[in-house]
Amino acid sequence: MRMKITDVKCHVLVADDVDCGLTSSAQDSFLVVVTTDEGIDGYGESDLNPWIGRACVEAPGTHTMGIGMRELLIGRDPQDIGLIWDDIYTYTAMNGRRGAVIHALGAVEMALWDIAGKAAGQPVWQLLGKKRDTPVIPYASLQPSGKTFETYRDALCASAEAAKNLGFQAVKAECTMSGPFAHDSMNEPFCRHTDLVAAVRDVLGPDIALLVDVQYIWRDAETAFATVRDWGEFDIYFLETPIWPDFLDEHARLAEQVPFPIASGEWLSTKWEFVDLIERGKVGVVQPDVGRVGGIREAQAVCEMAAVREIPVVPHCWKTGVSLSATAHLAFVTPGISFIEYLPPQLCIEKLRRELATEDLDFENGEILAPTKPGLGIEINWDAVNAYGQL
Ligand SMILES: [Mg+2]
Repeated sequence: MRMKITDVKCHVLVADDVDCGLTSSAQDSFLVVVTTDEGIDGYGESDLNPWIGRACVEAPGTHTMGIGMRELLIGRDPQDIGLIWDDIYTYTAMNGRRGAVIHALGAVEMALWDIAGKAAGQPVWQLLGKKRDTPVIPYASLQPSGKTFETYRDALCASAEAAKNLGFQAVKAECTMSGPFAHDSMNEPFCRHTDLVAAVRDVLGPDIALLVDVQYIWRDAETAFATVRDWGEFDIYFLETPIWPDFLDEHARLAEQVPFPIASGEWLSTKWEFVDLIERGKVGVVQPDVGRVGGIREAQAVCEMAAVREIPVVPHCWKTGVSLSATAHLAFVTPGISFIEYLPPQLCIEKLRRELATEDLDFENGEILAPTKPGLGIEINWDAVNAYGQL
């Protein structure tokens, strides 16, 4: 069936309790709706400031190297996903090629897959490849609140306990009490982060995988190593973003010294940035965010690159059910994805995560079951779009 894109709408959504002092990008959403002449709508989302995302899509073009994204979409067959992506990448190059324009393109591309799946009457994963033989395992992504070491630790341990009781086989602890993105302006000494990781491991016991995220707390390998040198005893699956992402040689230096892999990549756009992260940064786990990297197809390219180097992929996803669905569909055809990030609605305070979308993903015995509905299988709650929509 041939189709034409008739409209592209960008929704800027911000929770009414947004707090810029918190380190949580799930307080907003950039939701893209692509409509067609066949009456099929596609939904996509990306993790970037939604006003910036909207400008990336809606700004009119001014010359051949900077055409408007929306102009490049109207009238095209949404099922020509690769061709459309390549055209947008090429003809927005002077405005984009990396960064926000690619993040916004990721939301658009996700919506095109949703349309393609709905048109074919198949879940998106069936269009992407062969279903993996191994289960898709989500990890509970836990971000505590608290202004002191004790309240932060207790909140983290309480949600780790709750995640364990929900049957999660893996948990990620955000341990960010210092550094540029410290929670609620906290400024605890580095040694306290060791106490925090020890406390969470204690709660989880030995059988649950523990992932640790310190959100760019250090600037160099030496300072990082002084704190994390003994974290091997906590049997952590990886240490996420210990060092600022531009300092690739420092990543490599730290990776050489510690007995666990360094993970990074949540902010990167396109496979090209991942080449540098892997080759020069020597990271042991890559974390593309499906929207931010440029969409499902670009995330697949990163997964292929990681697979030939035998590096596991653990996609980043700190967003609503729209992004989570796209991530899960990718995981069902990608055996190299060891875990997917999952923000359990029961354990999170973010209103958009809880209210914006319902996904076709059942969680049973610590696994995600393969979605069966056509497309990404998302239901959008339009009351939430109206309630949190911004001009
Ligand atoms: Mg992170």
